[in-house]
Amino acid sequence: MTSRIIDLLRTGQPAQTVTIRGWVRTKREQKEFCFVEVNDGSSLVGLQAILSADLPDYAEQLKKLSTGASVEISGSLVESPAKGQRIELKASQLTIHGEANPETYPLQKKRHSFEFLREIAHLRARTNTIGAVFRVRNACANAVHDFFQARGFLWVHTPIISANDCEGAGELFTVTALDLKNIPKTSDQEIDYSQDFFGRRAFLTVSGQLEAEILAMAFSNVYTFGPTFRAENSNTSRHLAEFWMIEPEMAFCNLDGNMDLAEAFLKHIFKSVLESCPEDMEFFNQRIDNTVLATAENIISSEFPRITYTEAIALLEKADRQFEYPVAWGLDLQSEHERYLAEELFQKPLIVTDYPSAIKAFYMRQNDGEPDDRKTVRAMDILAPKIGEIVGGSQREERLDQLEKRIQQAGLPLEELWWYLDLRRYGTVPHAGFGLGFERVVQFMTGMTNIRDVIPFPRSPLNAEF
Ligand code: ATP
Ligand code: MN
Repeated sequence: MTSRIIDLLRTGQPAQTVTIRGWVRTKREQKEFCFVEVNDGSSLVGLQAILSADLPDYAEQLKKLSTGASVEISGSLVESPAKGQRIELKASQLTIHGEANPETYPLQKKRHSFEFLREIAHLRARTNTIGAVFRVRNACANAVHDFFQARGFLWVHTPIISANDCEGAGELFTVTALDLKNIPKTSDQEIDYSQDFFGRRAFLTVSGQLEAEILAMAFSNVYTFGPTFRAENSNTSRHLAEFWMIEPEMAFCNLDGNMDLAEAFLKHIFKSVLESCPEDMEFFNQRIDNTVLATAENIISSEFPRITYTEAIALLEKADRQFEYPVAWGLDLQSEHERYLAEELFQKPLIVTDYPSAIKAFYMRQNDGEPDDRKTVRAMDILAPKIGEIVGGSQREERLDQLEKRIQQAGLPLEELWWYLDLRRYGTVPHAGFGLGFERVVQFMTGMTNIRDVIPFPRSPLNAEF
């Protein structure tokens, strides 16, 4: 039976006979024997194997054994005299499955830049940093399901192909099966989507929220966790064209309940990743960003301050610095403003609520009794140091007449949202939810500066290789 290297490193005992499989990370030749570090992806550090000259075909095998080669090694565990490792593997049998020519294998022992590694995304998971990122990403995903399942939320699968374009104006990818060399046109020279696959124009979804609301009106508490697409032409370190989003939606819930859940959720994710990936997190703290562990502790133990948008504007107006973008009541917060609040002023994640209705989506619940020029909605954004917005959510408008008014004000067609409006016609309840960008969390947790390094195969403008 083959053992996972992580299990051997944690609980392997001297004299135990084991077999490991993996890829060679390093090889150190001595006179009579050779050390190879083998990594199978289960942990940051590999297991050191000692190959001695009495192995069959030793000299020949050794030539084939270079960084990147795949091997299977059997032997017995022995106590290691070397510093930093408890045990090592004294090999009695070695099989080389595949060589990796050192002349051409791009991952040599030296440090490579993340930009370079992105160009070899088919190999980069074999590096320390990217390997650690994807283990943490897995632990995060697991923590997401843990959190919601323990609370009785149903995981629902909302469509990836969607005909509703009400949300992400301008950021939609069209899905079509039309013959692009011979596009059918209507009499007024528009593309005739009625001849397309769905008989109408369709898109890749920018959010599963509206469909999640449908399901919350039957199951009370639901969440989505799936891919989301935005044709963002912003080439930033925080935006991907394809990313994963988590969107819980709760019936019988207001903005306070929504904020409580979002805060508990972030705390849970950080806590469980620290528990399940301690070596990887330690590595990020040492090699990527020395505030990673302190940040995680800070998130787990501190309460997130909650301020209104109006208060946030007042704080920004008092700031002892010049921002690139203007600060005034009614304008949206820019990333520099969000980061000033989270990184410098509060030095922890904070929640900003009650944004002007004019800058927020039609489905957010209007606050009552405000003057016309200061109308706000029950929105909440969680702003995190280094990242800016990490969660965006709101209490939803559950009143039919108000919702219709907002849809019309936004210039959207009421008829197309007939099913969404039906939810307010039949058994409407106060409800709330939020969206959390999964990669933003992984980025925040690991301290990685570019979001393209926390998803295995990033999609961004001019970039869809692999
Ligand atoms: P931003 O202002 O950062 O572009 P947004 O206002 O467009 O965010 P929402 O529409 O509220 O974001 O989406 C919900 C969450 O999805 C955001 O809080 C963020 O965590 C994440 N997110 C949004 N756009 C992207 C993207 N292009 N790539 C990765 N994550 C994203
Ligand atoms: Mn955006």
